[in-house]
Amino acid sequence: MNPRARAAPLRMRPRVLVAPDPKRPKAPPPRTEAVVVGGGIAGVSAAVVLAERGVAVTLLEAAPTLGGRLGAWPHTLPDGTPQVVEHGFHAFFRHYYTWRDILRRIDPDLAFLRPIGGYPVISRSWPPEDLTGLPGAPPLNLIALFARSPSLGLRDLLGSDQALAGQLLAYDAVATTAAFDDVPAARFLAELGMSDRAQAMLFEAFARSFFARPAALSAAELIAMFHYYFLGNPEGIGFDAPDTDYLTCIWGPLRTYLERRGVRFHTGTPVRALHPADRWRVETEEGAFETRHVVLAVDPGALKTLVGGSSVPAELARQAELLEEHYERVIERLEGAGYTWYETANFCRPGFMSQHNRAYWLGRDYLGIGVGAVSTLGDERRVTTPRIAPYLEAIADGRPAPAKVELLTPEIRRRERLMLGLRLAEGVERASVEGAVDDDALALLATHGVVAEADGRIVLERRGRLLVHDVVARLSRDDGRP
Ligand SMILES: Cc1cc2nc3c(=O)[nH]c(=O)nc-3n(C[C@H](O)[C@H](O)[C@H](O)COP(=O)(O)OP(=O)(O)OC[C@H]3O[C@@H](n4cnc5c(N)ncnc54)[C@H](O)[C@@H]3O)c2cc1C
Repeated sequence: MNPRARAAPLRMRPRVLVAPDPKRPKAPPPRTEAVVVGGGIAGVSAAVVLAERGVAVTLLEAAPTLGGRLGAWPHTLPDGTPQVVEHGFHAFFRHYYTWRDILRRIDPDLAFLRPIGGYPVISRSWPPEDLTGLPGAPPLNLIALFARSPSLGLRDLLGSDQALAGQLLAYDAVATTAAFDDVPAARFLAELGMSDRAQAMLFEAFARSFFARPAALSAAELIAMFHYYFLGNPEGIGFDAPDTDYLTCIWGPLRTYLERRGVRFHTGTPVRALHPADRWRVETEEGAFETRHVVLAVDPGALKTLVGGSSVPAELARQAELLEEHYERVIERLEGAGYTWYETANFCRPGFMSQHNRAYWLGRDYLGIGVGAVSTLGDERRVTTPRIAPYLEAIADGRPAPAKVELLTPEIRRRERLMLGLRLAEGVERASVEGAVDDDALALLATHGVVAEADGRIVLERRGRLLVHDVVARLSRDDGRP
């Protein structure tokens, strides 16, 4: 396995996955409204974020109370005592940063959360496991788990297949999914050399606590789970739980918080279907809600039913599936007919590559003439005005057309080279993108057969070419990150 990929988790560098575009407006236009379907954690969180930005939110929830799977509802016991009933125990993990931020709206210090002593996994046959209290930083947490676990020994760690064990450490959303989503988790664990007891006490118990059938779990899902709870965050697997029922400490206060911001709640109102017209038409038994924006925050089963009962989303889902299939078929047909796949979205017969497009992908100079035309000459990019009147006026006066000019710094040049060069079958010359490439990401993607580096060039492998945007995003070095 690649040593650089192995070193990656040691650093625990937070990565910015979605950077806000500073040019986008900070607030929505006045009178923006939205309908949120589903009043669980996801729907209520969406309502919080939208209402705080001034959006007029209507929340539709099928159940009589908020909370969904974290729900809690009032009940009267046979002797007349009022009692709040809940779905069951929930661990509030310390690395659920977003959920904790939402909860800080109603309790800035999160004083209602108390640490829990342990998370024991018990068995009739084997001694119990406790997954709490491990050191925060990987791989210390992993070593500590193996060292203290009665089901696992350090010998298991050292005796396991090192290349596969490395995959647990070198998790990467794109590369791990590409390499392991078709591999059953059970096979991965068996090949890793884990004993039945270690598998049952750690992985199986863990899978079941997430309602996943271990036999149906893919190795990619297992690695992701392992990474997310054991290795991917400095909090480790620490968690807290509320000191009272969820209705009292969460849903009641969040509802009050949202009502103060104008959110209208319709509980006991299941949405039946969703239809696009001028605006979305959200159909319920109470009547239809017309809106321009819809947030679907229902559980996966309900989402499937809802989408199945609606017109356009069902069509979109069908088209998305077809598109993926078509892409594979298009490649097969064109290659079979003697066309070469020479750029992400371009094929040609030998010798017929588009020369002007190649100049662009290769970062050469090109001249664009006309309204809204783009030219790149040396370190300057020039875009003439896209507006016809000022363009014609300037030409009639014998003046150059108004244009926006952007200076291309060496850094911008290198980033563009990476982004455009990788689209080509021949890839990009390593030296031309030096400094723009994240070496760790490159090594990791190479171990998964997504990219290859040979003869001084970085080239996308076949599977990587279908993922070009994600791969470029992964490979681009982000110097701004901490
Ligand atoms: C017993 C149990 C234990 C758990 N333990 C933990 C734990 O320890 N730690 C942890 O982090 N997570 C735990 N979870 C998982 C956690 O509860 C869920 O991940 C989380 O609550 C999901 O929130 P959600 O908003 O995505 O979905 P949901 O809570 O499912 O919310 C979806 C909402 O949509 C509503 N809805 C569905 N269809 C419609 C419709 N057509 N119209 C209108 N409304 C609709 C539903 O009524 C529901 O209220 C546990 C779950 C359970 C059940």
